[in-house]
Amino acid sequence: MKRRDFLAGIGTSAALTACTTGTEQQASTATSERVTWRMVTTWPPNFPGQGTGVNTLVRYINELSGGRMTIEVYGAGELIPAFEVFDAVSGGAVEMGHGAAYYWRGKTEATQFFASIPFGMNIHEINAWLYYGGGLELWREVYEPFNLYPIPAGNTGVQMGGWFNRPIDSIEDLRGLKMRIPGVGGEVLRRAGGTPVNLPISEIFTALQTGSIDATEWVGPYNDLALGLHTAAQYYYYPGWQEPGPALECMINLDAWNTLPEDLKAIVTVSCQAMSLDMVSEFMARNANALEQIRASGTDIRAFPDEVLAELKRISNEVIEELAAADPLVERVWTSYRDFQAQARGWQLISEQAILNTTNL
Ligand code: CA
Repeated sequence: MKRRDFLAGIGTSAALTACTTGTEQQASTATSERVTWRMVTTWPPNFPGQGTGVNTLVRYINELSGGRMTIEVYGAGELIPAFEVFDAVSGGAVEMGHGAAYYWRGKTEATQFFASIPFGMNIHEINAWLYYGGGLELWREVYEPFNLYPIPAGNTGVQMGGWFNRPIDSIEDLRGLKMRIPGVGGEVLRRAGGTPVNLPISEIFTALQTGSIDATEWVGPYNDLALGLHTAAQYYYYPGWQEPGPALECMINLDAWNTLPEDLKAIVTVSCQAMSLDMVSEFMARNANALEQIRASGTDIRAFPDEVLAELKRISNEVIEELAAADPLVERVWTSYRDFQAQARGWQLISEQAILNTTNL
């Protein structure tokens, strides 16, 4: 009998204990104790991609644990507002959260390197850095003083540059542009002469449609189509220089994490990895499909001119170097990130990029 079937077939702790004598260690880590945690997220409930990814994660955890671990998910605003997730998990009001580390740059600017920075690493590179380049150790170090334990959990892949209601032919066209673009990307826009604003998901469409903003970035074709942004602006620009491959996170209250038996820790960790593969695959498939729909709707899909991207990149480096100069922790994370990215690019140029370049031969 497989262990999972065995556990599923046992109804009482007495029976379980009786049947596992002789495997003392197993019995102590696989008692009938049931764990029910609450998880708050920064996404609307069931939001395509991110929200559904969270649902997949908690289903994996429940199934792999044979029902011993149950996680109740609360989308943004259901229990607490989106941007209070960090504090709620940190303080122990709930055990678990899902979001993106750059939302917490108000705690320390070091957090955002674990999600995405403008002109930073793409999805493959950031995964390599986190798992094989020391990134995850740094992330845990940065979150530890907040009593949090982070696990990478999902990635949207490279985003789109955003929706505009006028063409961007030169850097001057960004002057006076009022755009929904958060984080470092927003600061870059500000230094380029624009006005960055941050809006919750629920307000983006109306703001763009009524002209209270001139442009917005959100995610990519799959998410943007769901918001109807193609009906509110004519131009859809790429690439998403502001978010080249944002990693998403599962954050766990450190005290809660330390109470978990080893097998449940492993189940949570592996479920986050499995969910990441699932989300990446879903975004690739659905973005491709949604892009065709957006193109068919008559949207003008354009690349930013190289000189615009070069100037945005120059400003981005300026902003990030200033953040690093102001804080030794940011400096240390940025140095690790920057060096890893430089090394990874050497390989990427003659591997992934080279093969993609053959597409039109
Ligand atoms: Ca975005």
